[in-house]
Amino acid sequence: MLPRSMSYVDVHCHLIHPRFTGEEDAVAARAHAAGLEFVIVNGLEPRSNRDVVALCRRHSYLLPAVGIYPVDACAAVIDREAWQHPFEPPTVFDVDAEIDWIDSVASEIIAIGECGLDAHWVKDAAALAEQERVLRRLCAVAKRHDKPMILHTRKAEARTLALLLEEGVTRADFHCYGGKLKLAKRVAEAGFYLSIPPVVERSEAFQRLAQELPLDRILTETDSPYMGPDSGERNEPANVPRGVAAIAAARGETPSFVAEQVRANFRALFRR
Ligand SMILES: [Zn+2]
Repeated sequence: MLPRSMSYVDVHCHLIHPRFTGEEDAVAARAHAAGLEFVIVNGLEPRSNRDVVALCRRHSYLLPAVGIYPVDACAAVIDREAWQHPFEPPTVFDVDAEIDWIDSVASEIIAIGECGLDAHWVKDAAALAEQERVLRRLCAVAKRHDKPMILHTRKAEARTLALLLEEGVTRADFHCYGGKLKLAKRVAEAGFYLSIPPVVERSEAFQRLAQELPLDRILTETDSPYMGPDSGERNEPANVPRGVAAIAAARGETPSFVAEQVRANFRALFRR
């Protein structure tokens, strides 16, 4: 039997990012050359959302997802006096107008994302409530247009799962899941997917996730420029094959078997 050519997918990356400025097309071309059949480029707020759509128009293998990152979602209500993180607090914008814009372009995008909840950077109750309000509105958009959601769930994994179930969302990917293994299994049992980044090469937590989850719930991502296989190095979508190899090693399966099943999962969730 002839070996099948391997096909890879990245369901979550940020090619619109200061660390890729001016290199977006070269990075995309490298991904395609590395065997990536599809790369889903995710937006975070108004500016990156529009840039993602424009970039994806230039490459047939780049698919746009637009959303509102949870830290940006609560920009208008976070306590700016109390902000003590090593980066600037998010810029305030009209969140509801942006949700309306996402609704208006929904037929042109592959998914709603990045969106979700974040209790790592954001702790105050009013801001967390605003994140939930925004996520519920985005759930409604996703359902109205029958689009999957790509979710950020940092330190809010259980709340995100509960919210999705309450809202009747059935198509979603939990990206870079960092919660408890038991909860990850519940996410998978609920019919949602979990995408694993190339940092799995050196992360025991992600190796564990790769081992314990059913293969038919696993997707691959890079979260570029973050979560790369080499500590301190900029990550890019061309690293997906390394992630697949590490997932396969953790599971005791071959990379081609894993890549083929992940491709099937991608088709099931994104219908591409
Ligand atoms: Zn991300």
